[in-house]
Amino acid sequence: MFKKPMISIFIAFIILSTVGSITIASAIDSDENDVYLLCVYDILSELEIDLSEYVALLKPLSHTGEYQHFLSENATRYQAFQAINPRMPRDLVLAYVNVNLDKEFYTDILEVANPGSLYVLVNKHHGFPRNWIPDDLVIIESWRRIRKDAAFNILMMKSDMEEAELSMHLVSTFRSFGSQSGIFSNGVAQFGRTRAETMYARPGHSEHQAGLAIDLLHSPPRGALRSAQFQDTDEFEWLLNNAYKYGFILRYPEEYVDIHGYIFEPWHWRYIGIEIATVMFNEGISLYEEFYGRYLVSGVLENAVDIINTIRELELLAIFEAEEIERLQIEADAEAVAQRLAEAEALAIREAEEAERLAAIELFQTTMMNNTEQNNINTSEFDNETKLNVFIVIIIPLLLLGLCIVSVKVATVIVSRM
Ligand SMILES: [Zn+2]
Repeated sequence: MFKKPMISIFIAFIILSTVGSITIASAIDSDENDVYLLCVYDILSELEIDLSEYVALLKPLSHTGEYQHFLSENATRYQAFQAINPRMPRDLVLAYVNVNLDKEFYTDILEVANPGSLYVLVNKHHGFPRNWIPDDLVIIESWRRIRKDAAFNILMMKSDMEEAELSMHLVSTFRSFGSQSGIFSNGVAQFGRTRAETMYARPGHSEHQAGLAIDLLHSPPRGALRSAQFQDTDEFEWLLNNAYKYGFILRYPEEYVDIHGYIFEPWHWRYIGIEIATVMFNEGISLYEEFYGRYLVSGVLENAVDIINTIRELELLAIFEAEEIERLQIEADAEAVAQRLAEAEALAIREAEEAERLAAIELFQTTMMNNTEQNNINTSEFDNETKLNVFIVIIIPLLLLGLCIVSVKVATVIVSRM
């Protein structure tokens, strides 16, 4: 009965180990820099790695001055962008150029290669395939939909905000290419093209199409959403300090309006997963384009996060396996105890039967002995009776006869003397 689960666990372990090894091996092959190898080896050797160590491992990537995010195909563009921005730090030049920020908005648009990734970068330089719709949207509130990973964290965040006596009202979540198209056209009609461009994404360029963005306010919206009110609320302050714990970042910060190309949007928050959001928060990087250009464009961090997730899965599997073994052990122990009890019980029954048998024998013997004694008593009584009868029947008549003869003799003698 233990064989089937053990075999299943073994096979699952082999599969996960293989997947993990392949992921790690391909990650090592794809990048030759020592820092990255160090990062991977460190993750492998220390399974219980926490995020602060993880951040520490990433530091050399941006702070040694070795520009690990240098991409040789961008070399001339780095030079050109640096020439236009002579005071910009070199590593920031690299990060910006890596995500096409050296180009004009909506020129040389790149179609995103990973539309389903939690880390997808979509902006005025990167767009979705026209009909892209995530396949894991879930309804989170009335008709509002969001991707599954984000949904759970929004609900957690909302619950914790309410506990802190703050409120969260979801205004907008997933929007299709079609509905973004309508919103953009209406914006152009209402505010004119130039202004509308700073307020609305063109269709295919909205983060809402990713199913990973939410617009939220502290109270049910009245009038224009673009009220600056929200930035002065306790809710916004709380989000700035805590949203990363739920995997959310402020996507269009005030100090980078020229770079992301939108007005400051305190209501627009983007889900990128807790790991990356935490690294961004700890690194003090508030513009997703910068973070993406430094860490994600080369795939280094994404691979590292994938490896960590694989290791977590293996850890979970190991825990499950240990629990299963423990459970089987307990089951086996219980069976052994039950068996011992059954044996003891059987022994007790056999002993009781034996005792009963012996008692029966003893009873029989006792009965037999009593019968013999009784017979003996009866025999002696019989003898006495017989003796008496013999005495009565034979001796007494003989005595009487003798007495008669003697009497006759005496009488004869007496008569003869007379
Ligand atoms: Zn939004």
